[in-house]
This record gives sequence, structure tokens and C-alpha cells, in this order.
Amino acid sequence: MQFPDLYRFPKGHPPSPYNHPVSVTDYSQAAGDVELLFQDFISDHVEPERIKRVLAGTRKGEATLPSELALLAVGWLEADGFEVGEVPGTVLDRLLANRDRVISDGTRGLHRCELCSPNQPLPHFQWRDQRYNIVGHGHYLIQYRDAVYMVPELLPHYLLEHRYRPPAEFVLAVVEGKFLQVADLVVDWVREWPIGHDAG
Ligand SMILES: [Zn+2]
Repeated sequence: MQFPDLYRFPKGHPPSPYNHPVSVTDYSQAAGDVELLFQDFISDHVEPERIKRVLAGTRKGEATLPSELALLAVGWLEADGFEVGEVPGTVLDRLLANRDRVISDGTRGLHRCELCSPNQPLPHFQWRDQRYNIVGHGHYLIQYRDAVYMVPELLPHYLLEHRYRPPAEFVLAVVEGKFLQVADLVVDWVREWPIGHDAG
């Protein structure tokens, strides 16, 4: 994935670096204890009947940005030639404090750092006495006024390890803006589980 900084996506582009919609699942109306189901699913065989019973009421949807917002790319680095320099520490503080707002790309692949060695897993890094391990399968959406900056989950790594300096307007957005989560997006609920799903 490579986009020039401040590249403006066409109107209606999904809030994802890919062309496919951002898929969301709402378990809040599920009939049973979904968390327990998933725990058991990892450790044990789970009867299909139980899955069907517990997940009844679960909704699946596709998320888009509210139409008044513009989507811009920042930090999609794949090769040398980007700006380097100092970035206020607050930027890293804010990115790392909002890791629970990273939006999943909905793919199984992981982004690796093309600037390090592309075949290696991403190294851990340290920031203010804490160790971080970023897996890189999603992105942040950061809103400031009517702009939403889409940045890779690997951005803290680019800032710390490669001294990448993002555009000033983005730095302002991180400090003053809002980290969007799925609840801030417009979701078109397309189906309810298990409709369209042959659960037997
Ligand atoms: Zn790297």
C-alpha cells in the first residue's frame, strides 16, 4: 500500500486502504454469551447448534465515512524519499493511547515494514518505558474538522525507527482531533446472522 502524503481519496471511497468496504459485526443483540463462545471455540470443539443459537441476532454491515468528510492518506511509506525530522512526543503518546481504535483492514495479511526487511516480523520498540509490538493489520482514522486522515497502524514505528515526519496539518489533527471508531462511521447493516449463511 503506497499513497502520497495528503492524497485525497475520491468521494465515497471506503475508509480503508483497499477498495472493499470496511466490514463490521455487531454482537450486541446476540442471543447468547458471545465471549464465552469464542473462548470455548479456541480451546474446544463447539457444536454447530450452539453457534447458531448464541449468534442469532448478530448483525453484519459495511461501514463508510459520513459524506461530509474527506478522506486523506498519510504515512503509507514503502520506499525512501519521505520527509524526516522531529515530531512532538505527544503524537506518539496519542497514537499509542488509541490503539484500541485501530480499524481492521478485514484481510488476513499483515502489513510489514518495507523499509526494514520486508520478510521479517516488525521489531518491538520502546516508548516512555513501555515495550510495544505492533502487528500491522489495520489503520487509524483521525478526524480534524472535515478531514479524516487514514494512517497505517505501523505509523509509530515509522516515526520512531525511520524518523518519518508527517505533514504539519496531520500533526495538528493527531493532537487536537478525534480518533474515530466504528461507532463514528455510517454502517449499512446488510444482513443478520445466520441469514444467507448455511449453518445446517
Ligand atoms: Zn521499519
